[in-house]
Amino acid sequence: MTLPRAPRAARAPANARALSGARAPAPGRAATPSSAPSGLGLASDSARARMVLDLRKAGVRDPDVLAAMQAVPRHLFVEPALASRAYEDVALPIGHGQTISRPSTVARMLEIVLARLSREQRARARALEVGTGCGYQAALMAALVGEVISIERVRGLHDAARSNLRPLRVPNLRLMFGDGRLGAPSSAPFDAVVVAAAGDEIPDALLEQMAPGARLLAPVGDGVRQALHLVERSGDRTWELTVLDEARFVPLRSGTA
Ligand code: SAH
Repeated sequence: MTLPRAPRAARAPANARALSGARAPAPGRAATPSSAPSGLGLASDSARARMVLDLRKAGVRDPDVLAAMQAVPRHLFVEPALASRAYEDVALPIGHGQTISRPSTVARMLEIVLARLSREQRARARALEVGTGCGYQAALMAALVGEVISIERVRGLHDAARSNLRPLRVPNLRLMFGDGRLGAPSSAPFDAVVVAAAGDEIPDALLEQMAPGARLLAPVGDGVRQALHLVERSGDRTWELTVLDEARFVPLRSGTA
Protein backbone atom coordinates (compact mmCIF):
# COMPACT_ATOMS: atom_id res chain seq x y z
CA MET A 1 0.00 0.00 0.00
CA THR A 2 1.11 3.55 -0.53
CA LEU A 3 0.81 6.16 2.13
CA PRO A 4 -0.52 9.61 1.41
CA ARG A 5 2.41 11.92 1.02
CA ALA A 6 2.14 15.04 3.11
CA PRO A 7 2.58 18.18 1.05
CA ARG A 8 5.74 20.03 1.98
CA ALA A 9 5.65 22.85 4.46
CA ALA A 10 6.83 26.22 3.21
CA ARG A 11 9.49 25.91 5.88
CA ALA A 12 9.95 22.38 7.12
CA PRO A 13 10.44 21.98 10.87
CA ALA A 14 14.10 21.80 11.78
CA ASN A 15 13.79 18.13 12.64
CA ALA A 16 12.38 17.02 9.31
CA ARG A 17 15.76 15.51 8.47
CA ALA A 18 16.48 14.08 11.88
CA LEU A 19 13.46 11.80 11.94
CA SER A 20 13.90 10.69 8.34
CA GLY A 21 11.25 13.31 7.71
CA ALA A 22 7.89 13.50 9.37
CA ARG A 23 6.64 12.37 6.03
CA ALA A 24 5.90 9.01 4.57
CA PRO A 25 9.16 7.47 3.40
CA ALA A 26 9.53 6.59 -0.26
CA PRO A 27 8.22 3.09 -0.88
CA GLY A 28 10.76 0.48 0.11
CA ARG A 29 12.83 2.86 2.18
CA ALA A 30 13.13 2.25 5.88
CA ALA A 31 11.91 5.08 8.08
CA THR A 32 14.22 4.01 10.88
CA PRO A 33 17.71 5.50 10.83
CA SER A 34 20.17 2.90 9.59
CA SER A 35 22.03 3.16 12.90
CA ALA A 36 18.92 2.27 14.90
CA PRO A 37 19.56 -0.69 17.22
CA SER A 38 16.66 -2.62 15.79
CA GLY A 39 16.47 -5.98 14.15
CA LEU A 40 13.02 -5.15 12.80
CA GLY A 41 13.99 -2.73 10.01
CA LEU A 42 11.66 -2.97 7.03
CA ALA A 43 9.32 -5.32 8.90
CA SER A 44 8.68 -2.52 11.39
CA ASP A 45 8.11 -0.16 8.47
CA SER A 46 5.27 -2.25 7.15
CA ALA A 47 3.91 -2.91 10.65
CA ARG A 48 3.75 0.87 11.05
CA ALA A 49 2.06 1.25 7.68
CA ARG A 50 -0.64 -1.17 8.88
CA MET A 51 -0.95 0.79 12.13
CA VAL A 52 -1.39 4.02 10.16
CA LEU A 53 -4.08 2.38 8.02
CA ASP A 54 -5.91 1.39 11.22
CA LEU A 55 -5.56 4.94 12.55
CA ARG A 56 -7.14 6.26 9.35
CA LYS A 57 -9.98 3.78 9.73
CA ALA A 58 -10.40 4.94 13.32
CA GLY A 59 -10.89 8.48 12.02
CA VAL A 60 -7.48 10.15 12.31
CA ARG A 61 -7.36 12.52 9.32
CA ASP A 62 -4.46 14.92 9.84
CA PRO A 63 -1.92 13.94 7.14
CA ASP A 64 1.03 15.27 9.11
CA VAL A 65 0.03 13.35 12.25
CA LEU A 66 -0.35 10.18 10.17
CA ALA A 67 3.03 10.76 8.53
CA ALA A 68 4.67 11.26 11.93
CA MET A 69 3.06 8.03 13.19
CA GLN A 70 4.59 6.30 10.15
CA ALA A 71 8.01 7.87 10.70
CA VAL A 72 8.60 7.37 14.43
CA PRO A 73 9.63 3.80 15.30
CA ARG A 74 7.49 3.01 18.37
CA HIS A 75 9.29 -0.32 18.90
CA LEU A 76 12.44 1.57 19.92
CA PHE A 77 10.57 3.04 22.90
CA VAL A 78 9.49 -0.20 24.56
CA GLU A 79 11.61 -2.96 26.01
CA PRO A 80 12.82 -5.53 23.44
CA ALA A 81 10.49 -8.24 24.80
CA LEU A 82 7.50 -6.06 23.86
CA ALA A 83 8.83 -4.76 20.54
CA SER A 84 6.75 -7.24 18.54
CA ARG A 85 3.59 -5.72 20.04
CA ALA A 86 4.67 -2.12 19.48
CA TYR A 87 2.35 -1.57 16.50
CA GLU A 88 -0.78 -3.01 18.06
CA ASP A 89 -3.25 -0.44 19.33
CA VAL A 90 -2.49 -1.18 22.96
CA ALA A 91 -0.97 0.63 25.92
CA LEU A 92 2.33 -0.99 26.97
CA PRO A 93 4.30 -0.86 30.22
CA ILE A 94 7.44 1.32 30.18
CA GLY A 95 8.67 0.60 33.71
CA HIS A 96 8.28 2.54 36.98
CA GLY A 97 4.58 1.63 36.97
CA GLN A 98 3.94 3.82 33.91
CA THR A 99 2.56 3.06 30.46
CA ILE A 100 2.91 4.35 26.91
CA SER A 101 -0.56 5.25 25.59
CA ARG A 102 -2.26 3.44 22.70
CA PRO A 103 -1.20 4.80 19.29
CA SER A 104 -4.81 5.79 18.57
CA THR A 105 -4.94 7.87 21.76
CA VAL A 106 -1.64 9.58 21.00
CA ALA A 107 -2.61 10.32 17.38
CA ARG A 108 -6.00 11.70 18.36
CA MET A 109 -4.51 13.93 21.05
CA LEU A 110 -1.95 15.35 18.64
CA GLU A 111 -4.59 15.90 15.97
CA ILE A 112 -6.83 17.81 18.39
CA VAL A 113 -4.14 19.90 20.04
CA LEU A 114 -2.70 21.01 16.67
CA ALA A 115 -6.00 21.34 14.78
CA ARG A 116 -6.03 25.14 14.72
CA LEU A 117 -2.45 25.54 13.50
CA SER A 118 -1.62 25.71 9.80
CA ARG A 119 1.45 23.88 8.62
CA GLU A 120 3.38 27.15 8.58
CA GLN A 121 2.27 27.95 12.13
CA ARG A 122 3.24 24.45 13.28
CA ALA A 123 6.72 24.90 11.85
CA ARG A 124 7.15 27.94 14.11
CA ALA A 125 5.16 26.61 17.09
CA ARG A 126 6.51 25.70 20.50
CA ALA A 127 4.89 22.81 22.36
CA LEU A 128 5.06 21.49 25.89
CA GLU A 129 4.54 17.89 26.98
CA VAL A 130 4.05 17.00 30.65
CA GLY A 131 5.02 13.35 31.19
CA THR A 132 7.82 12.34 28.81
CA GLY A 133 7.59 8.68 29.81
CA CYS A 134 9.58 6.71 27.25
CA GLY A 135 9.77 9.71 24.89
CA TYR A 136 7.55 8.34 22.11
CA GLN A 137 4.94 11.10 22.07
CA ALA A 138 7.67 13.70 22.47
CA ALA A 139 9.34 12.38 19.29
CA LEU A 140 6.04 12.60 17.43
CA MET A 141 5.46 16.14 18.62
CA ALA A 142 8.96 17.10 17.53
CA ALA A 143 8.13 15.78 14.06
CA LEU A 144 5.11 18.07 13.94
CA VAL A 145 6.13 21.40 15.47
CA GLY A 146 9.17 23.65 15.49
CA GLU A 147 10.23 23.17 19.10
CA VAL A 148 9.21 20.81 21.90
CA ILE A 149 9.93 20.81 25.63
CA SER A 150 9.00 17.64 27.49
CA ILE A 151 9.14 17.26 31.28
CA GLU A 152 9.27 14.03 33.29
CA ARG A 153 9.22 13.68 37.09
CA VAL A 154 10.72 10.15 37.33
CA ARG A 155 14.50 10.28 36.89
CA GLY A 156 14.70 6.70 35.55
CA LEU A 157 12.18 7.47 32.80
CA HIS A 158 13.79 10.80 31.95
CA ASP A 159 17.10 8.96 31.47
CA ALA A 160 15.45 6.13 29.50
CA ALA A 161 13.72 8.62 27.18
CA ARG A 162 17.06 10.33 26.57
CA SER A 163 18.67 7.07 25.52
CA ASN A 164 15.65 5.98 23.44
CA LEU A 165 15.75 9.26 21.55
CA ARG A 166 19.51 9.42 21.02
CA PRO A 167 19.64 7.28 17.84
CA LEU A 168 16.82 9.33 16.31
CA ARG A 169 18.68 12.62 16.80
CA VAL A 170 15.87 15.09 17.41
CA PRO A 171 17.50 18.52 17.70
CA ASN A 172 14.26 20.43 18.31
CA LEU A 173 13.27 18.43 21.41
CA ARG A 174 14.46 19.37 24.90
CA LEU A 175 13.91 16.93 27.77
CA MET A 176 13.65 18.33 31.28
CA PHE A 177 13.61 16.53 34.62
CA GLY A 178 11.17 18.03 37.13
CA ASP A 179 7.57 18.50 38.18
CA GLY A 180 5.70 19.25 34.97
CA ARG A 181 2.78 20.75 36.91
CA LEU A 182 4.93 23.87 37.08
CA GLY A 183 5.44 23.92 33.32
CA ALA A 184 8.57 25.49 31.88
CA PRO A 185 8.15 29.23 32.56
CA SER A 186 11.43 30.26 30.98
CA SER A 187 10.37 28.70 27.65
CA ALA A 188 6.73 29.89 27.71
CA PRO A 189 4.43 30.78 26.05
CA PHE A 190 3.44 27.53 24.34
CA ASP A 191 1.19 27.16 21.31
CA ALA A 192 0.23 23.60 22.29
CA VAL A 193 0.35 21.75 25.61
CA VAL A 194 -0.24 18.02 26.09
CA VAL A 195 -0.47 16.51 29.54
CA ALA A 196 0.04 12.73 29.51
CA ALA A 197 -1.11 12.02 33.09
CA ALA A 198 -4.41 12.70 34.88
CA GLY A 199 -4.69 15.23 37.71
CA ASP A 200 -7.78 16.33 39.62
CA GLU A 201 -7.47 19.69 37.91
CA ILE A 202 -5.34 21.41 35.29
CA PRO A 203 -2.44 23.19 37.01
CA ASP A 204 -2.73 27.00 36.85
CA ALA A 205 0.90 27.31 35.77
CA LEU A 206 0.11 25.42 32.56
CA LEU A 207 -2.88 27.64 31.79
CA GLU A 208 -0.76 30.74 32.35
CA GLN A 209 1.95 29.44 30.02
CA MET A 210 -0.42 29.08 27.05
CA ALA A 211 -0.01 31.59 24.22
CA PRO A 212 -3.13 33.45 23.08
CA GLY A 213 -5.17 31.02 20.95
CA ALA A 214 -3.15 28.03 22.20
CA ARG A 215 -4.73 24.66 22.93
CA LEU A 216 -4.07 22.41 25.92
CA LEU A 217 -5.20 18.82 26.21
CA ALA A 218 -5.17 17.04 29.58
CA PRO A 219 -6.93 14.09 31.17
CA VAL A 220 -8.69 15.21 34.35
CA GLY A 221 -10.08 12.95 37.06
CA ASP A 222 -9.11 10.26 39.53
CA GLY A 223 -8.16 6.60 39.15
CA VAL A 224 -11.77 5.66 38.45
CA ARG A 225 -13.26 8.36 36.24
CA GLN A 226 -11.32 10.60 33.88
CA ALA A 227 -12.18 12.69 30.85
CA LEU A 228 -9.99 14.42 28.33
CA HIS A 229 -10.25 18.18 28.76
CA LEU A 230 -9.52 20.57 25.90
CA VAL A 231 -8.72 24.15 26.90
CA GLU A 232 -8.33 27.05 24.50
CA ARG A 233 -6.93 30.37 25.62
CA SER A 234 -9.46 32.71 24.06
CA GLY A 235 -8.16 35.97 25.53
CA ASP A 236 -5.67 37.48 27.92
CA ARG A 237 -7.61 36.24 30.97
CA THR A 238 -10.10 33.85 29.36
CA TRP A 239 -9.88 30.14 28.72
CA GLU A 240 -12.57 27.96 27.16
CA LEU A 241 -13.08 24.39 28.28
CA THR A 242 -14.54 21.54 26.25
CA VAL A 243 -14.85 18.15 27.89
CA LEU A 244 -14.14 15.39 25.37
CA ASP A 245 -14.19 11.59 25.74
CA GLU A 246 -13.61 9.45 28.77
CA ALA A 247 -9.94 8.66 29.29
CA ARG A 248 -7.66 6.35 31.21
CA PHE A 249 -4.22 7.73 32.09
CA VAL A 250 -1.70 7.22 34.88
CA PRO A 251 -1.91 9.82 37.68
CA LEU A 252 -0.29 13.25 37.54
CA ARG A 253 1.86 13.39 40.69
CA SER A 254 3.63 16.24 42.39
CA GLY A 255 7.36 16.53 43.01
CA THR A 256 10.02 14.27 41.54
CA ALA A 257 11.03 10.65 42.07
N1 SAH B 1 3.92 10.53 26.72
C1 SAH B 1 4.43 9.37 27.38
C2 SAH B 1 3.39 8.76 28.26
C3 SAH B 1 3.96 8.43 29.59
S1 SAH B 1 2.80 8.06 30.85
C4 SAH B 1 5.02 8.38 26.39
O1 SAH B 1 4.94 8.60 25.17
O2 SAH B 1 5.62 7.40 26.83
C5 SAH B 1 2.75 9.58 31.75
C6 SAH B 1 4.04 10.04 32.34
O3 SAH B 1 3.74 11.20 33.13
C7 SAH B 1 4.72 9.07 33.30
O4 SAH B 1 6.02 8.82 32.82
C8 SAH B 1 4.76 9.80 34.63
O5 SAH B 1 5.92 9.56 35.39
C9 SAH B 1 4.69 11.24 34.17
N2 SAH B 1 4.24 12.21 35.17
C10 SAH B 1 3.27 12.10 36.10
N3 SAH B 1 3.16 13.23 36.83
C11 SAH B 1 4.10 14.10 36.32
C12 SAH B 1 4.50 15.44 36.64
N4 SAH B 1 3.93 16.14 37.64
N5 SAH B 1 5.49 16.00 35.91
C13 SAH B 1 6.09 15.33 34.89
N6 SAH B 1 5.77 14.07 34.56
C14 SAH B 1 4.78 13.45 35.25
